[in-house]
Amino acid sequence: MSKKLVVIGGGASGFFCAIRAAEMYPDAQITIVEKQHKVLQKVKVSGGGRCNVTHACFKISELVKNYPRGASFLKKSFRHFQPQDVMEWFESRGVSLKIEKMVVFPQSDSSQSIIDVLLLK
Ligand SMILES: Cc1cc2nc3c(=O)[nH]c(=O)nc-3n(C[C@H](O)[C@H](O)[C@H](O)COP(=O)(O)OP(=O)(O)OC[C@H]3O[C@@H](n4cnc5c(N)ncnc54)[C@H](O)[C@@H]3O)c2cc1C
Repeated sequence: MSKKLVVIGGGASGFFCAIRAAEMYPDAQITIVEKQHKVLQKVKVSGGGRCNVTHACFKISELVKNYPRGASFLKKSFRHFQPQDVMEWFESRGVSLKIEKMVVFPQSDSSQSIIDVLLLK
């Protein structure tokens, strides 16, 4: 019997979680449930419509300094997936990225480029 996964919330984290789960369990039935009429609405407006994808800091010890209260938890998480991995994840799916003052944006300057990847377009 195939696994079933229901992800509550069609935001960036819900979509990323669903895509990752689908990669890990190709036979799984995965459903995203969203209470609004549209998904990924915050991604659409983030970074003034350009979507600041991640922070261009690739040294974990430096990165966690931005999160003083969650540093030890985040250190463990970042060892699994950190901004470099985020960049590679999007670039491997055809999104060109650029760095402006330590902030990573799509080369297109449009959050739609990021949304299209998350929607598997
Ligand atoms: C105006 C604005 C600008 C922002 N700009 C930036 C930015 O530039 N950079 C940045 O990093 N972050 C920005 N943020 C923060 C942004 O919210 C997060 O980065 C990102 O959206 C978090 O993604 P998420 O998937 O965790 O949450 P969300 O994007 O909030 O997604 C959660 C989803 O779950 C849905 N949901 C909630 N409860 C239920 C339920 N019971 N049933 C079904 N669906 C449900 C919600 O409708 C929503 O679609 C901005 C936020 C706002 C409001």
